Amino acid sequence: MATIKKNNYVLNKSTNNFKPKDKKSNWLRNPEDEAFYNSRKWRGLSLRFKKFHPVCKTLNCTQSSYFTDHIIPISEGGEKWDWDNFQALCKSCNAIKTAKQKQSLVKNKY
Ligand SMILES: [Zn+2]
Repeated sequence: MATIKKNNYVLNKSTNNFKPKDKKSNWLRNPEDEAFYNSRKWRGLSLRFKKFHPVCKTLNCTQSSYFTDHIIPISEGGEKWDWDNFQALCKSCNAIKTAKQKQSLVKNKY
């Protein structure tokens, strides 16, 4: 019997050996999300998205966009790479949304 070695090289990206490197970060995203948002691919896409959406998406807000936000958070099953799930937010609107998310995260965490 030929012992052809099967290519079981599997990229096991979703293991949880990710160590948060920045302890000061008060951003309570889970580590996988953190790695995603720090990835070069995401940053590049985010930049492109903001070129198309230079103004904050929030109603009545006219600030220029600063963040690309996932409408449905990826931690909740939202599409990572789907532009339909993106919205451009300015700094302050993003802070508001983050604060709200943090509240619900803290509530659900323990
Ligand atoms: Zn805004």
